[in-house]
Amino acid sequence: MSVNDGHYSFKVYNYFMTINFRINQDYLIAHTLISCKEHDFSSEEHKKDIVAFQDHAWELSKDLYNLIPERTDAETILRIGDFEKYTKMVGQLDDYVNKLKQSKEFKVILEQTEKYRQFCEREWGSNYGRISKIIQELTQFNLDKQVAVFITHPSQRNGRSIGLDKIAWGHTEDWPNYTVVYLWHEILHKYMDNTDLNHALIELITDYELRRQLGGPDYPPFTTGHERLQKTEEILLPHWKRYLSSKNKNFTNFQEKVEKLTDL
Ligand SMILES: [Zn+2]
Repeated sequence: MSVNDGHYSFKVYNYFMTINFRINQDYLIAHTLISCKEHDFSSEEHKKDIVAFQDHAWELSKDLYNLIPERTDAETILRIGDFEKYTKMVGQLDDYVNKLKQSKEFKVILEQTEKYRQFCEREWGSNYGRISKIIQELTQFNLDKQVAVFITHPSQRNGRSIGLDKIAWGHTEDWPNYTVVYLWHEILHKYMDNTDLNHALIELITDYELRRQLGGPDYPPFTTGHERLQKTEEILLPHWKRYLSSKNKNFTNFQEKVEKLTDL
């Protein structure tokens, strides 16, 4: 909608993102149990509670623990025998997960995750206006999507865009606004095809520029994002800086222009 009072002409954006912060207990259990490696942890806080829950689930049934998606592989068929036996075992997973839900070890995880869910909701709500304006200025996207964010334990790493309306998220708050900067990163994945160039552009918009405008460090160096995108970001940098200083930004045009760069 355009408002014109005779002196100024400006656009009023009525769009807003509807973000629903949720916990899906089945998914929380799956994610907490598969994230066992050192790198899967984003913080030492509550680590012993997480390990206690993992140990409890392992003691209850190693075989069923190993059937949780991502723990399992094609060789599972050889270990169990055949698909018929495998299907029978998978049929017990629901019962196993229900038992885990009743355990005191899981109740601790759920409580810590619920506290973090409320924190995410507050952080998102407290500076939505300011941040959505920054994203709007940088991308001109219609920020009108409805997205469910499925929260996992803050001490374990998570961050994925799933389809058009879901995000899986969990990470310790390493610096101020960490959660919102990376939630916007995942949201922008829903507006752009999944190419390395687009991923580098998303990092420039959120991980670097949005974070900088919220009081974070200047860039380069490009050290916080995916390592394989750093070279692309170095090549994009002069074009990106020119885009940032231009008055009439058109992100789609900018994107088409940098797609043609021969050195990428
Ligand atoms: Zn990404």
